[in-house]
Amino acid sequence: MSKFPEKSRDREGLLEEMRLKKAEDYRWQEGKTFAYVYYPGEEILSTVKAAYNLYFSENALNPSAFPSLKNMEIDLVSQLADLFHAPKGHAGCLTSGGTESILLAVKTARTWAQKKKGPSFQGEVILPESAHPAFHKACYYFGLKPVVIPVDKNFKANPAAMAAAINERSVLLVGSAPSYPQGVIDPIEAIGKIAQEHDLLFHVDSCIGGFILPFMEEAGFPIAPFDFAVPGVTSLSADIHKYGYAAKGASLLLYRHAELRKAQFYVYANWPGGIYASPGIAGTRPGGAIAAAWAVVQFLGRTGYVRMCKETIETTRRFARGIESIPELKILAEPEATIIAIASDDLDIYEVGDELGILGWPCDRQQLPPSLHLSITVAHTPLLESFLADLKLAVKKAKRWSWNKAGKEIQLAGLRFFKEVLSAEHFERLKNWASKKSPIGGKRSAAMYGMIGELQEDGNVEELVADFLDRMLSKDKE
Ligand SMILES: *Cc1c(COP(=O)(O)O)cnc(C)c1O
Repeated sequence: MSKFPEKSRDREGLLEEMRLKKAEDYRWQEGKTFAYVYYPGEEILSTVKAAYNLYFSENALNPSAFPSLKNMEIDLVSQLADLFHAPKGHAGCLTSGGTESILLAVKTARTWAQKKKGPSFQGEVILPESAHPAFHKACYYFGLKPVVIPVDKNFKANPAAMAAAINERSVLLVGSAPSYPQGVIDPIEAIGKIAQEHDLLFHVDSCIGGFILPFMEEAGFPIAPFDFAVPGVTSLSADIHKYGYAAKGASLLLYRHAELRKAQFYVYANWPGGIYASPGIAGTRPGGAIAAAWAVVQFLGRTGYVRMCKETIETTRRFARGIESIPELKILAEPEATIIAIASDDLDIYEVGDELGILGWPCDRQQLPPSLHLSITVAHTPLLESFLADLKLAVKKAKRWSWNKAGKEIQLAGLRFFKEVLSAEHFERLKNWASKKSPIGGKRSAAMYGMIGELQEDGNVEELVADFLDRMLSKDKE
């Protein structure tokens, strides 16, 4: 337990304490992280920060209170509609991030279907297994059923299998441009055709690609159309706080026509506090996030984004070639944008991830199949050689026998054994014990991922992970 602070403190001491607290955090300024922060360099970052601070206190909850913010949002949505080839009659809004954009797109699909089929109708969302968990979260929150379709051998959505899953309850199809786990672009044109044939809504999740893909052709890397240029696409999300380089808290959600956006709004007219209307999930909305998003798009413009895109794609491809040159490693799919998934046929790739993390390069573990995730940015351009040297070292270390690995094998063997012979209650206790042993975010997580893989068949991984999370967010962790 912490005590509520009794006395005031001096500002300098406080800020210094916070700076020191950062010692164990990811060192994104050095380019040694591959997710969470999209560092564009000091010039862009300081401009975005200045724009954010100009609107630090303003609140976009009431559009008539701060017309300057409202106009920046309208202006930016309109500029981005141009970027994503939205036709006349389009409508959109800024949200707090990719998750809110996706939650709203799914909520809109529900309301849209309920207008035709009645207020109790709960539809189905057809999505590739590579689609972001935010779609599952949305279905869970809003009472829709996710229908998950396996991806093909290139990790792309399978349009024929998606079409086969359509029934009278279907309301929304989903495609990613690109997907987060392997960085491949789903066949958007083929899915668009199916959406049109069946008169369904179709959301393109371009959260991570939204500020890369539109600039690829000019950067010298042509790609197939993925946005509103494709007939059948009815909504699209693009995170300005990823490769748009805005401050955290900014994503675009865009609809082909304004009627769809209206299905997103929430209005309550009987509140003693007044008539309440809000476009998205949040009430109070930080003015700074909107101002910074508007500012960075004006600051960079098309030429700036093309320059950033060109460097990012070139760096991604150089990383991919370098990784492939290590015999024990492979990449799961040829990166079509800025994401690389590293896997191995010979080694436990999670062991490589653990060693790489210890060498100062933390990267996220992925599953089904196991891999390590890299989202590449311009911050990585100067680091190719040092990364590859450490990756080779990590592979070498992962091949060695060690007490860590032996411990992991024993833990897994124990788990398999006890699963067979223990009562449900004892097994629960064992899992509880194991979850305390292997916190998420620890330096070594190969053991934990092994355990999760082992438990996946039982279908009770969710509870175990919720326990991990609860412990991580608690003050008195053991
Ligand atoms: C990041 C991401 C999201 C979720 O966005 P948040 O801003 O983290 O809420 C959704 N889809 C894809 C493909 C993403 O990369």
